[in-house]
Amino acid sequence: MSSTYAIAVHGGAGAVPRAALTPEREARYREGLERALDAGYALLEGGGSSLDAVTTAVRILEDDPLFNAGHGAALTRDGAAELDAAIMDGRQLRAGAVASVRHVRNPIELARRVMEKSRHVLLVGAGAEEFALEEKFQLVPNLYFRTAERVEQLEAEQRGARVSDLVPSTRGTVGAVARDTAGNLAAATSTGGMTNKRPGRVGDSPIIGAGTYAKNGVCAVSATGHGEYFIRAVAAHHVCTAVEYRGLSLEQAVREVLQVLSGMGGDGGLIAVDRDGVPVMQFSTDGMFRGARDAGGRREIAVY
Ligand code: ASP
Repeated sequence: MSSTYAIAVHGGAGAVPRAALTPEREARYREGLERALDAGYALLEGGGSSLDAVTTAVRILEDDPLFNAGHGAALTRDGAAELDAAIMDGRQLRAGAVASVRHVRNPIELARRVMEKSRHVLLVGAGAEEFALEEKFQLVPNLYFRTAERVEQLEAEQRGARVSDLVPSTRGTVGAVARDTAGNLAAATSTGGMTNKRPGRVGDSPIIGAGTYAKNGVCAVSATGHGEYFIRAVAAHHVCTAVEYRGLSLEQAVREVLQVLSGMGGDGGLIAVDRDGVPVMQFSTDGMFRGARDAGGRREIAVY
């Protein structure tokens, strides 16, 4: 097995009107993506695992208020943040996820703990937070997640004003995929979901196979976009099965699922890495905040 390694990250896909994305703001997005990408890459470079790389990258994006995950998450119609996250280890198809949590500072870490320390795959709401307490996670007030910008977006949406999908962001979900030197693949995704969502709504991100999937020898995938469509299309799993059973290249498989989603009326984007560590980043929206870096020297951060 070749010892190459690679990581890709995303910070959401959606309508990104160029006029709304000032150079100053774009620079901040790029810096945020870069920080996550480089931290994950440094781990891989030092021989670390893909699982640690994607956890670290996503945690950094969760802490960045620009992105719709963790601090700065999109708000429900009641004005609260309800967070979803998932992680998958391509080695033995192990996975962990949490949904509708309100007090866990870094949902991706709780998702990982669910995978590593519980007998379950998906924990939601109060049960997930009880588990977090037992695992000595420090819980934070829901207000921690709420930023002035997200409150403004919620109010605009509730007034019936069209809120751009990304800038300011109603989506902006974050994710990472990686291949480490041992050839292990991993994927992670974290989100606040969609602005003005109904309390209790769960998107595709924490649904294994919809927004997140990884299988060694095949690929690792993290999605962003209109979650209801990604769930119905089982998007991330679709990509992996197209590669594994139909022999499509990862790029063909990602393009195919975007077409399937478009046919259903849904849009968004996906990042993925194949068994050999080649990153693929595609979207059907105006833009997707994204970055990729690999051992061959590729280093790319892009929006459009
Ligand atoms: N997929 C996320 C959701 O529907 C939102 C996003 O990616 O922007 O919850």
